[in-house]
Amino acid sequence: MDYRSKLKSINSKLIISFTFIMIVTIIAIRFFVNINFKNSFEKYVDDSNKVEINHLIEFDLKSIYLNDNWDIELIENLGIDYIRKGIAIEIYDENNNKVWSVFEDEKVLSDKTLNEVSKNMQSIEKKWNNYFEEVKVDIGDIDGNSVGYAYIGHYASTYYMENDVQFFNAANRIIAVIGVISIGSIIIISIIISKSIANPISKVSKMTKFIGEGNYKNEVTYKSNISEIDDLINSINKLSNELNEQESLRKQLTADIAHELRTPLTSIKGHLDTIIAGIWEPTNERLNSINEEVTRITNLVDDLRKLAKFDIGKNSLNKEVVNLRDYIKTIVYNYEGKALEKNIGIKYQLEDLEVIIDKEKFAQVIINILSNAIKYNNGNGKIYVKAFMKDNNVNISIKDSGIGIPESELKNIFERFYRVDKSRGANEKGMGVGLTISKSIVNAHGGEIKVFSEVNNGSEFLIILPNEN
Ligand code: ADP
Repeated sequence: MDYRSKLKSINSKLIISFTFIMIVTIIAIRFFVNINFKNSFEKYVDDSNKVEINHLIEFDLKSIYLNDNWDIELIENLGIDYIRKGIAIEIYDENNNKVWSVFEDEKVLSDKTLNEVSKNMQSIEKKWNNYFEEVKVDIGDIDGNSVGYAYIGHYASTYYMENDVQFFNAANRIIAVIGVISIGSIIIISIIISKSIANPISKVSKMTKFIGEGNYKNEVTYKSNISEIDDLINSINKLSNELNEQESLRKQLTADIAHELRTPLTSIKGHLDTIIAGIWEPTNERLNSINEEVTRITNLVDDLRKLAKFDIGKNSLNKEVVNLRDYIKTIVYNYEGKALEKNIGIKYQLEDLEVIIDKEKFAQVIINILSNAIKYNNGNGKIYVKAFMKDNNVNISIKDSGIGIPESELKNIFERFYRVDKSRGANEKGMGVGLTISKSIVNAHGGEIKVFSEVNNGSEFLIILPNEN
């Protein structure tokens, strides 16, 4: 038997477990009810037999000898009455002469009744003992003088008469019917419960299979009233959305790369074709132009490498405690020269804060934003670098007085290869991946980047990091 064929569905597992638990419970209940019921019933039967015998001795036997005579008719009636209750009567006079005996005078009735009792009892209880017990009771006349005696006999063990047996069997049947009804209802309930669990799971499982085959756009629309299953459905939907997004990003990225590579390659090929055809001389100027395009491709490949490197999740961060003021200053100092070339002054306003960050990766964020602030600037302005606490978050702001970003473009600038100014002429313009990398690093730190900008007035990039101290 292979592994899969041994697997059971949730449905059958739940039904089997429920039924098993129920059967065990019912057997246990039946066992206890039986013992209890049997004990009480036996006690009741024993007590009533004792009451009958007492009544026989205290009342009935006292009225069978009247006016120096045995009232045979009464004795016979009593004898028949009592044998029907399993009690045998034999009457003797004071000279030991038999007056009346149920075993002789009502032989057929007494044999039949006692045999039936014995048979019934043995069918109920295999070990039932049919020992017959007799007591001798004196019989007196009205003045209390002894006129004879009686033997009163009955089975020593508890015995049931026909009526008792019928009652006992009926009670047992009721217990059995209750058991069957309980098992039946528990099976129905377990089918309903297991279906309510198994159905959504099998839907989710079909869905995950579907997603596994690459159909990320589908969502599980099923709503379950079981919170764990609802969570599972939400997670699967989230997963398929994420995969869908990743898939579109991957497609977009491939298209972008192809586009970015094609433009410089077409230009290089055009130049080389004309040179090879002998139309153009391979002058220094033309070779330089080809070289520029090659540099563009090299930069693109370099950016792609960086993008791959910084396209990170939380797990690949190598965090440590860093003094933010010293850290930012060290990075920004290296760019002061470049800023000065464009006559841009950098102003600092850094609080003495400790943060827990991946030093190397986070430096890339500051560098990207700062170099943009210098790049997208017509010169003669200022850049303000600030670090401060706000709402228990660490805030880092880099604000320039540069060219600014049109409001309609703000939502796009963090996209891969997105550039507000698409013209590729100016060498210093980048490939449009710096902010993508920065966002991904800040997000991996649990933070976010916000941007505020006004065309011709400048932009502010605000990094907000959760305070982990
Ligand atoms: P790039 O490599 O092109 O600089 P980024 O991802 O760093 O790519 O930036 C994306 C685009 O956002 C830039 O091409 C630019 O148009 C715009 N941008 C970024 N920073 C600034 C800024 N400080 N001022 C004006 N525009 C900016």
